[in-house]
Amino acid sequence: MDFKEYQGKKVLSERFENVALGLVTSNVHDAISYASEVGFPVVIKAQVLIGGRGKAGGVKLAFNKEEAESISSAILGMDIKGHKVEEILVAKAVDIKEEWYMSITFDRANRSMTLIFSVEGGVDIEQVAHDSPEKVLKMPINPLKALEISELEKKLLESGLNKSYVDEVVKIIISSYGMVVDKDLTLLEVNPLVLTEDEEVVILDCKMSVDDTAEFRQSSLFEMNSGDDSSREKIAKKQGFSYVHLEGDVGIIGNGAGLVMATMDAVKNAGGEPANFLDIGGGAKAEVVNNALKLVEGNPKVKSIFINVFGGITRGDEVARGIADVVNESSPRVPIVIRLTGTRAEEGLEILKNETDLSVTDVMDEAAELAVRLRDES
Ligand code: GDP
Ligand code: MN
Repeated sequence: MDFKEYQGKKVLSERFENVALGLVTSNVHDAISYASEVGFPVVIKAQVLIGGRGKAGGVKLAFNKEEAESISSAILGMDIKGHKVEEILVAKAVDIKEEWYMSITFDRANRSMTLIFSVEGGVDIEQVAHDSPEKVLKMPINPLKALEISELEKKLLESGLNKSYVDEVVKIIISSYGMVVDKDLTLLEVNPLVLTEDEEVVILDCKMSVDDTAEFRQSSLFEMNSGDDSSREKIAKKQGFSYVHLEGDVGIIGNGAGLVMATMDAVKNAGGEPANFLDIGGGAKAEVVNNALKLVEGNPKVKSIFINVFGGITRGDEVARGIADVVNESSPRVPIVIRLTGTRAEEGLEILKNETDLSVTDVMDEAAELAVRLRDES
């Protein structure tokens, strides 16, 4: 599970003093009054689960009340790469001298957690690694040992960190790794970790993810997100689906993760962009199909939907019955293409042809092309 910046920062503030916390709100007036209270300039930041908010115009400084008002109103409701901004974080702006990068995350190739640090932070770390790899410290962490402080100090110096900040940064890294272990985090990224004009080191941004299988022992972390029931991922989880929101406009529904991924590839090959990954799993009774369709249709970007079902244990005619019932009860907002194959597919296709006016086929690429064409027409 991923956390928004302010949630991650709240968790970090259990162990760190210098976290730029501020106020989270969906209300412009609250934003203005908080800004006036802490004093200008303030930074106003979109709270969405996607990086690169700064570049997208979702992070701005406000120097007075008027700016606080216009910036808050502009950012609230903004669409950042398909994520609608419903909350903003308002915090007293920090005077930045340097922006550093720090993260601890899985490196699957090394089968361990890995620390990454760079004095060239604030920007895209992949770019820094590409342009000046010597400025990016990358250190695998042996899970059976504590972090080697002397090695860490040496590597921080080598990566260009000024000697006077090494002790402070080592402390932050050690505490961060402690937090990653204690809280079952799969990612903790602070970009930027800032050196202020007053020579303080401040956590200015945070990306945090917790291992989804750790819910049983990290209940307080998981509860942080429980109020936020509106997200499509949340609704999907409750319905037993696995759903991933994507940037495109062709909605995808399938049974089985492999098939859904192949469906996404087919849509891409046909020149389309998938709007989501949705695996409805085994069994596809009317209710399941109904829930899946509502979920995908509810994404305002979706312009056509491709349902790809392989009948194994799930019978093709049952799936078809489910789809027919659903679309005949409430007509779908966008065109739907269905590809049905496997157990009792023929019977299923018959039902769909006779009882609905949906496009049906048993050929995957054909269905993908049609879904893309219908998207362009709608
Ligand atoms: P991201 O673009 O989603 O990673 O959002 P960040 O929170 O990292 O903010 C992007 C950039 O905005 C940072 O790298 C800073 O350069 C700038 N920024 C954010 N907060 C402040 C602040 O308090 N003061 C100043 N001067 N700049 C800020
Ligand atoms: Mn950032």
